[in-house]
Amino acid sequence: MESSAVRAAMVRKLQAQGISHPAVVAAMLAVERHRFVDSALVNQAYEDTSLPIGQGQTISKPGVVARMVELLCQSSAQPLGRVLEIGTGCGYQAAVLSRVAREVYSIERIRALHDKARDNLRALRVPNLHLILGDGMAGFAQGAPYAAIIAAAGGNDLPAAWIDQLAVGGRLVAPAVTAAGGQHLVVIDKTARGIVRTELEAVHFVPLKSGLA
Ligand code: SAH
Repeated sequence: MESSAVRAAMVRKLQAQGISHPAVVAAMLAVERHRFVDSALVNQAYEDTSLPIGQGQTISKPGVVARMVELLCQSSAQPLGRVLEIGTGCGYQAAVLSRVAREVYSIERIRALHDKARDNLRALRVPNLHLILGDGMAGFAQGAPYAAIIAAAGGNDLPAAWIDQLAVGGRLVAPAVTAAGGQHLVVIDKTARGIVRTELEAVHFVPLKSGLA
């Protein structure tokens, strides 16, 4: 598929929605989203929509990926240091992260998706991306502390392990149910003086679940 023109059109729409960070724009232009969806869905790969990836899970909307990665990039100098992603899914967002961070650890609880992501990413040869099969509710202590943590699945609360594994000066972006009701993007900044929590727009992510599947 010759996709650079259609991807550029997608990125222009993201920019019209407010995405402006140069590293994020470059990453969204570079990563070929059609490589991460089933062949029957390739024609929809550059629409701003989530799509099924099997096992009842979805690849996130490009607009949401760009928004969340931009929130991480705005918080610190470029490139980001070590980043933890919870919910590898098909590996698309992990590939985007690998272009804005020095090191990416991405954890997935469903073996079939962990394997699918490895297949999708093999041809791209991304040496700074590490895929882990495990329960991301516990974070991934071996890579901690992280400059940034990003979750692609949402629960009622943010697991304490994520905040523990965040470096001072680091930022966490994740969907969670807020007091206002419904799932929202939540930003946690870990500062030398403590935790600063900011609640942003409503979002729709698949549920964060515990244990392996
Ligand atoms: N970033 C992915 C989005 C995948 S959807 C992409 O670009 O395609 C979210 C993923 O989170 C699902 O694959 C789901 O299995 C996974 N997930 C849910 N709870 C999890 C947990 N506790 N640990 C690891 N992965 C989890």
